[in-house]
Amino acid sequence: SFSKIGFIGLGNMGNPMVKNLMKKGHKVAVYDIKKDSVADLAKAGATGCGSVAEAVDGADAVVTMLPASKHVLDTYTRKGGILESVKKGAYLVDSSTVDPSVSQTLAPLAKEKGATYLDGPVSGGTIGAEAGTLTFMIGGEEDASKKVEPLLLCMGGRVVYCGSHGMGLVAKIANNMLLGISMLGVSEAMNLGIKLGMDPKTLMSILNTSTGRCWSSEMYNPVPGMLPNVPSSNGYKGGFGVALIAKDLGIAQSVATQSGIAIPMGAQAHQMYRMMEIKKLGDKDLAVAYKYLQGESV
Ligand code: NAD
Repeated sequence: SFSKIGFIGLGNMGNPMVKNLMKKGHKVAVYDIKKDSVADLAKAGATGCGSVAEAVDGADAVVTMLPASKHVLDTYTRKGGILESVKKGAYLVDSSTVDPSVSQTLAPLAKEKGATYLDGPVSGGTIGAEAGTLTFMIGGEEDASKKVEPLLLCMGGRVVYCGSHGMGLVAKIANNMLLGISMLGVSEAMNLGIKLGMDPKTLMSILNTSTGRCWSSEMYNPVPGMLPNVPSSNGYKGGFGVALIAKDLGIAQSVATQSGIAIPMGAQAHQMYRMMEIKKLGDKDLAVAYKYLQGESV
């Protein structure tokens, strides 16, 4: 049973994930380098902690939801980090989107401490985190995946076992690479049609009933005013940031390079989003690719 849960990284995703754990009756000890984020959840009923050690001490499971590989490696391995205070028999789930090698590095170190590490990145975004409908993609030992499933289902709707350590992350990175590419493709197609004189809504409806149809065209169209309640219709605010998709495409590039795998479209998409960051669009939703193609600022 999981009578104490430690949770580290209380940002856009971590905050609602902790709230959903508490809704299901779990006791959660929380830590973030931002004191305000800890205080906010303490007010909502969590145990606010001033250090990683305090959050991890005595915990039966620890979930991390941190920005990137270096933060996860540091939070685990530094002095006062997770591996120093983890309890024997505890389960450690990292839900951040990081390099698969992070999982392959940390799993044996956790094992030395008598703990079990899994990579468990999520899809569903902040909306899924709030609604508790995230999909967890798990890499590690299958029986461990089964053990933590009830806990993860407090924050998500689906837990998919993907294979050995790192395979949850491989699934996540493959999906996000495709998203990054498809958003550029839809932006390019919409821009071409509109520039040539097509009515944008008619063009969108043709795409969405034709072979070009995809999530980026149908659910998240990058042209302002096409769909309600998406970032493109709200100044590209919120949603999934350019800096985050650039980070994920960077991971795809890195693992592909190391393994000699060709990802020509992924590589191009990576550099397109990096250019958008240079144009100060890093904190805009990735659908801002449409504006970038027009050479417009937002
Ligand atoms: P975020 O930047 O909002 O949150 C990260 C939190 O980690 C921040 O509160 C930050 O203060 C904290 N932090 C940073 N370094 C720390 C440290 N050393 N110790 C403790 N806390 C530290 O990011 P997010 O949107 O919550 O995303 C987290 C991860 O989940 C990322 O890897 C992201 O790619 C992935 N992800 C995000 C989404 C999304 O839609 N936002 C969806 C799926 C996956």
